[in-house]
Amino acid sequence: MTQIFAYIPFSNGVAEDVAMEFPTAAAKIDKGASLTAVLTGSGADLDKAANDMTGLYAEVIKISHGDLAYPNAEVVRKALVNVIPAGSIVLAPHNTFGMDLAPGLSVKMNASYAADIVDFAGVEGTTLKASRQELGGAVSTHVAVDIASGAVITIRPGSFAAVEGKTASGAVVDKSANAGDLSAKRKFLEVVQAEVGDVDITKADVLVSIGRGIEEQENIEIAEELAKAMKTVVSCSRPIVDAKWLEKGRQVGTSGKTVKPKVYLAMGISGSFQHLGGLKGNPFIVAVNKNPKAPIFQVADVGIVANIIEFMPELTSAINDL
Ligand SMILES: Cc1cc2nc3c(=O)[nH]c(=O)nc-3n(C[C@H](O)[C@H](O)[C@H](O)COP(=O)(O)OP(=O)(O)OC[C@H]3O[C@@H](n4cnc5c(N)ncnc54)[C@H](O)[C@@H]3O)c2cc1C
Repeated sequence: MTQIFAYIPFSNGVAEDVAMEFPTAAAKIDKGASLTAVLTGSGADLDKAANDMTGLYAEVIKISHGDLAYPNAEVVRKALVNVIPAGSIVLAPHNTFGMDLAPGLSVKMNASYAADIVDFAGVEGTTLKASRQELGGAVSTHVAVDIASGAVITIRPGSFAAVEGKTASGAVVDKSANAGDLSAKRKFLEVVQAEVGDVDITKADVLVSIGRGIEEQENIEIAEELAKAMKTVVSCSRPIVDAKWLEKGRQVGTSGKTVKPKVYLAMGISGSFQHLGGLKGNPFIVAVNKNPKAPIFQVADVGIVANIIEFMPELTSAINDL
């Protein structure tokens, strides 16, 4: 039987959304696989996150140690390799920490490594069939992962459907005693909180989000007018921040803010996975883009092929006329 272990990231005792997506990913690898959640940390936060996972996973392993209290991939790798049996498949999120953790873990486990997987098509013999997206989602590639000696795989958050409700009645197993020597050369220093900025886009129910399609800094006013009509604020993709047209606190994405609006207007945004990675809670996405093949249309609930410089003022006046 395929043994799959899902590494669950959490903060303040709350597991990241990807914890709900791992069971779907594991079922696409092998419906009959045994799936175990693994959490590392310390104290009450670890206990809370681990207990929450018992509703989703048949078995939940916690590894508690003071040195695991803060994210340090070198230390987490050491703990995992002592607890997860050789030959297993390990799933981790393809985020900053997962990208730090996973390649070295695969080396330590003498297992294959596959990164940023968005889908699985089952196992044939000792080959796991998976797929990735390249070139900002414009191209899909098929990947054959040799799982004869196990594999460490990072999955792209948001690619697999989240399981809903309580789907398991697992128990927490404490494997802290098995963690072994956790001494490391890399030392945790401090957590530096990101600045909130002039507006807090994480609290908005509706976001008017602009991308490179806004074309010029002067055009941002058009988006501000639309946001004002909709009684909300403007967020953006990274190129807008890189150009210093809006401040960093407005950026949505893996290196920006995670937002959970109910409605997301993506104006002139191509739909890169780094951008979509910041979009949580399954919002209703309205995408406006002049390129009918823009990847954003693959995830949008409503797609409109139009020039945003003309479209946004028309939408603004239509809303103001209501
Ligand atoms: C490590 C790393 C982290 C990253 N983190 C982030 C992140 O947090 N957030 C983020 O957003 N990106 C991030 N990126 C960048 C990301 O890869 C993309 O480059 C970026 O999201 C693209 O932004 P965009 O969609 O605005 O621009 P583009 O990809 O250039 O797309 C612009 C879109 O606008 C359309 N368009 C052009 N003119 C018009 C018009 N007049 N009307 C309508 N449509 C028009 C085009 O057809 C195109 O689809 C990161 C990249 C790396 C490598």
